[in-house]
Amino acid sequence: MADKRDYYDVLGVSRDASDVEIKKAYRKLSKKYHPDINKEPDADAKFKEVTEAYEMLSDAQKRAAYDQYGHAANDPNFGAGFGGGGFGGFGGGAGGFGFEDIFESFFGGQSGGSRRPNAPQRGSDLQYRIDISFEEAIFGKETTIKYKRKEECHTCHGSGAKEGTSPVTCSKCHGSGATQVERNTPFGRVMTQATCDVCNGTGKEIKEKCTTCHGSGSETVDHTLKVTVPAGIEDDQQMRLSGQGEAGKNGGPYGDLYVVFRVRPSDKFTREGSEIYYDLPLSFAQAALGDEIKVPTVHGNVKLKVPAGTQTGTTFRLKGKGAPSVRTGYQGDQHVTVNIVTPKKLSDKQKDLLRQFAKESGEDVKGNDPGFFNKVKDLFD
Ligand SMILES: [Zn+2]
Ligand SMILES: [Zn+2]
Repeated sequence: MADKRDYYDVLGVSRDASDVEIKKAYRKLSKKYHPDINKEPDADAKFKEVTEAYEMLSDAQKRAAYDQYGHAANDPNFGAGFGGGGFGGFGGGAGGFGFEDIFESFFGGQSGGSRRPNAPQRGSDLQYRIDISFEEAIFGKETTIKYKRKEECHTCHGSGAKEGTSPVTCSKCHGSGATQVERNTPFGRVMTQATCDVCNGTGKEIKEKCTTCHGSGSETVDHTLKVTVPAGIEDDQQMRLSGQGEAGKNGGPYGDLYVVFRVRPSDKFTREGSEIYYDLPLSFAQAALGDEIKVPTVHGNVKLKVPAGTQTGTTFRLKGKGAPSVRTGYQGDQHVTVNIVTPKKLSDKQKDLLRQFAKESGEDVKGNDPGFFNKVKDLFD
């Protein structure tokens, strides 16, 4: 236990982090280290570490216990080492968790569902990331994904027993799943119930284990799944595919698969919801005289009439040339913003014409001469 990392360090949050901050940190890290996404050898261990830290810190009572007692609070035998005097401090329920919780941990009580080991348990949810292009997110597509998941063992159908055999009533606890043990507690020697160590509380013993799953009842297999990417999906949105997660226990249902979409940015367009934005570069002449321009959209080129005298920053709307909304099916627009580009290189003739143009406009333009800046520089030297 000594080499266990501090749960707050694991999640990278401060000790006074809010529940929201803890949840956020967990979501980020569990995504990062999920074994289906992260193929590095230590990803699995890191994922488990992060999950364990989150389970502790997301529960107010467990967190209070952890803050006070560190990793000892997580030990099922928590409290066994507290003799006489050490116990004194607990009396008033200090530290924000009640006497009953401590009492429970002294007596080997276990949390939640593990009390009924035979109860059907739903399988774990999984997460899978799909990378798609900007256009694929708008139009949707069909794709096939492949990932590893736990499925019910095909040999024993989840019982864990060798083919042709079935689990039998546990010889130690006679099926009750619990045994009586005498324990030393701060209150003296007490008889308590403990989970049977032969059957782990299931009351059933497997004499000959299934050769496929070695008694676990499940096996990890490559699972292939057809996924329809919905038209109009946005970056970081997710889709729940019911029953595509891992197998449950004791006949419990499969967990779900959460598909998270990662949309690659476009080098031409930006998108907000169902609206698409495009910057249209125009020359001064085009903007001043007006022009007809071919504007790219994800639906193909569209002709746009730019009226004479268009200013930089003017926006035109191309109706229906945006993205569909996943929820409502509403078709968005493309917004075209004019950006007037000043030429960086001019021929002598162009310069001459521009000087004439300025003169005609009644302007006295200085500094067009490349020597001008050198002269200014000379003044400061
Ligand atoms: Zn099996
Ligand atoms: Zn037993």
